[in-house]
Amino acid sequence: TTTAETLGFQAEVKQLLHLMIHSLYSNKEIFLRELVSNASDACDKLRFEALDKPELLEGGAELAITVDFDKDARTITISDNGIGMSREEAVANLGTIARSGTKEFFSQLTGDKQKDAQLIGQFGVGFYSSFIVADKVTVITRRAGLTPQEGVRWESDGQGEFTIEAAEKAGRGTDIILHLREDEDELLSGWKLREILRRYSDHISLPVRMYKEEWNEEKSEQVKSEELENVNQANALWTRSKSEITDEQYQEFYKHVAHDFENPLAWAHNRVEGRSEYTQLLYIPARAPFDMWDRDAKRGVKLYVRRVFIMDDAEQLLPAYLRFVRGVIDSADLPLNVSREILQESRDVRAIREGSTKRILSVLEDLAENKPEDYTVFWNAFGQVLKEGTGEDMANQERIAKLLRFASTHSGEPTQNVTFADYVARMKEGQDSIYYVTAESFNAAANSPHLEIFRKKGIEVLLMSERVDEWMLNYLREFDGKPLVSVAKGGLDLDKLADEEEKKHQAEVAESFKPLVERLQASLGEQVKEVRVTVRLVDSPACVVVDANELSPQLRRMLQAAGQ
Ligand code: ADP
Ligand code: MG
Repeated sequence: TTTAETLGFQAEVKQLLHLMIHSLYSNKEIFLRELVSNASDACDKLRFEALDKPELLEGGAELAITVDFDKDARTITISDNGIGMSREEAVANLGTIARSGTKEFFSQLTGDKQKDAQLIGQFGVGFYSSFIVADKVTVITRRAGLTPQEGVRWESDGQGEFTIEAAEKAGRGTDIILHLREDEDELLSGWKLREILRRYSDHISLPVRMYKEEWNEEKSEQVKSEELENVNQANALWTRSKSEITDEQYQEFYKHVAHDFENPLAWAHNRVEGRSEYTQLLYIPARAPFDMWDRDAKRGVKLYVRRVFIMDDAEQLLPAYLRFVRGVIDSADLPLNVSREILQESRDVRAIREGSTKRILSVLEDLAENKPEDYTVFWNAFGQVLKEGTGEDMANQERIAKLLRFASTHSGEPTQNVTFADYVARMKEGQDSIYYVTAESFNAAANSPHLEIFRKKGIEVLLMSERVDEWMLNYLREFDGKPLVSVAKGGLDLDKLADEEEKKHQAEVAESFKPLVERLQASLGEQVKEVRVTVRLVDSPACVVVDANELSPQLRRMLQAAGQ
């Protein structure tokens, strides 16, 4: 249709807008970063679609982003000649939030401004951040490939509704016009806007342009000329050499690719040559996204081929257990028309995946060794995901095992800060296994009756209570040649740790309890396999154990829950 329509925002958008305006005000300049970031994404998408349909380029003006302001109208305009939006796309993209993790995000809001501001940042700020500084936003856009008559005008005051109508637009792409709120006049300055752009958007690979300004004696002020100039370096950050890139630039680039608000914990930037040639710029975020446990969640890094953007979320470039990694891989070998199907089969991709995995593991090793506090932040956010690697990536299992952290009876605290190496260093004379207990919660693990004999003997036990632990333990059977042994399995070989007197005592006890054992065996009948006298208990009278070759209760429950 071509008529004007007024539509309501999705309820979540209204809530997000309200929060954004009220809790992100002290960070208001980020609106420009978000809009330039979107403009850059839109140009990337056009360049990619044009690989198949060169006519989309409409004669091919250079892709660029222009930022302009009008003091009299009190507007700032961000324009791009990227992919643009059709009417349907504008309604969907600028009226709803279609992102996994949305429910999670809204359920975690607290009403505390500072906490919520952090949550919003984590969730992704995006287009709606325009309303932090604007009380009205007009979007004029036209999808590449549609006619100038098929442009669209979207407008909203950010209160609850937006209008959408047909508009003529000569060039493809998008103009975002911000009508500034009353107190935002300081933004109507070429100097101020350039300063923000240099700070937040220097890493953008396309030119970001503004009109040159000259001093006018008569008016005694800066006056804009007709001529555009670049205000950023306009080459892809990852193509620059490391020594020319500041930490701030790396961090801003991260925020752009990861749609995150916080700085990353660490990054690795390398050009790899050899069998496969590519550049990687990979980041470890400090916080888990809302959709980390969502099976449909986007994951992976952006793929470029010789600086042309190919796709977001190229999950084939890293194994699933590194799905928290964000960043860019730019391949020199892959064909430009590479598809997800081709990626799956490609030998170049396999080489990239192996190389990038090793790189990430060394970043984590470095963090663990040299910045243990940052490693703790990482572990708390992503430790459960990393554990999946013990089963998924057998080739690197040993390296991953060294990166694991556990709670243990050594401190008895829930904090996961014990490495296998710490454990091994504390092993008792004659102890040759690494003992662990698994349970549904930390408290259940820490209070397990199975621990009594270990406490008595002063043997440390790792306390495991995450869902992934049982799964992990199916694959990870030893560390440093020492088998991992559950304290809940029957036939625990603690004999070596007992002295002669204890052994004699045990034999006597077993003998004297024989009649009781027989009676119990008779009355429990089929419900148990065997009743045994044990030395593993100190305070509790009895406990249930699983045969050495059988599934543990946790795993059995998990399998039952999964319908098996
Ligand atoms: P995100 O960038 O994380 O997807 P945003 O809120 O920033 O979220 O933008 C929402 C969506 O609106 C984008 O995914 C995109 O589809 C669309 N969009 C925003 N700005 C532009 C633009 N300049 N050109 C084309 N599409 C845009
Ligand atoms: Mg965005």
